[in-house]
Amino acid sequence: MQGNRSRDTSPELAVRRLLHAAGLRYRVNIRPLKSLRRTADVVFTRKKIAVFIDGCFWHGCPDHYVIPKTNVHYWSPKIETNLARDADTSAQLRAAGWTVLRYWEHQAPADVAERVIEAVRSESSGEAVRSGSEAVVVGPELAASAELGDGEVDGVGGAQAVASP
Ligand SMILES: [Zn+2]
Repeated sequence: MQGNRSRDTSPELAVRRLLHAAGLRYRVNIRPLKSLRRTADVVFTRKKIAVFIDGCFWHGCPDHYVIPKTNVHYWSPKIETNLARDADTSAQLRAAGWTVLRYWEHQAPADVAERVIEAVRSESSGEAVRSGSEAVVVGPELAASAELGDGEVDGVGGAQAVASP
């Protein structure tokens, strides 16, 4: 609906449809890290998984990127810059605790979706195992609700203490 956008290429859309059909919910074309001015194609914010589906030409796919015969001096540094930026983006996300998944647009959407689904599901089972075996490791949401519960109990106790004398 929005004309010539370089994003929302059909392989990416196909992957997104498959992920959605599998019941996964995600954000699209957002910055995984607010401080990093780069967007990922599909982002699972709570699980900290960023998925990139890279275009074969712009990202220098080893199978499909062929240096154009004209303007080599223009294209070649441009693609190299993109490659360096991709590597830097991955490194910065990983340093911040993110899982980075990169695929080429030439890969079959079904294969890509399958791997993403696997990564998302294994990430959630990992959390469950961790919080089950170690009481110390609790997600921020659980920790907050536990504190709230204690606060409510204290509040009731306090009110009674004030009312009784
Ligand atoms: Zn390719």
